[in-house]
Amino acid sequence: MHIGLDLDGVLADLVGETVKIFNRTWPDNKVNYEDLDGWDYLKRERGLSSKVQNELFYQVWKDFENLPTAEKIGDILEGINKLESQDHVISIITHRDRRTHSYVPRWLFQKQIPFHNLMFISTKTKLEKHDFVDVLVDDHPRTVEIADRYPNTFVLLRDQPWNRSVDIVSSSPNTSRITSLKDLPGYISNIQDYRSSINVA
Ligand SMILES: [Mg+2]
Repeated sequence: MHIGLDLDGVLADLVGETVKIFNRTWPDNKVNYEDLDGWDYLKRERGLSSKVQNELFYQVWKDFENLPTAEKIGDILEGINKLESQDHVISIITHRDRRTHSYVPRWLFQKQIPFHNLMFISTKTKLEKHDFVDVLVDDHPRTVEIADRYPNTFVLLRDQPWNRSVDIVSSSPNTSRITSLKDLPGYISNIQDYRSSINVA
């Protein structure tokens, strides 16, 4: 199967590093990672402008050599290496500030994360123009909210504080929540079995 992996919030800890810079810059107005209940939190609750927030994101990626993974690198590699050994196609799909494009492959090679395709896309909501993947792993709540329009793509929502308000149980049946990429091979196997059962029926 063709598996699409989002970068920020799934592979890279963009928000964690952004919070660190924010707290260093505004020590009297500190935020906690777990309090970020939406992508707009820093704007909504702390009065940050979009321009400044984007600048913080840029600063994090500019210093990509010190950008950690979104979870333990061993868990990410365990999941992705297994998928690769099973001949699945891995595409990393990301929407971002053009200034950061050149940092991305360098970060991926530094972390030794295997992939077949690296795609810089024009829209934030990946499903809208990029539903060619069989499974999409993403952290943005909107991806799940529109998943019912794209029944051929299964959406795995990577658990993060900013998507916890999404009720996955009552969402479209082609969605599920995942807390670690090490569990990805199990999910993919289940999705394959589900698809086979439908085809047999
Ligand atoms: Mg993301």
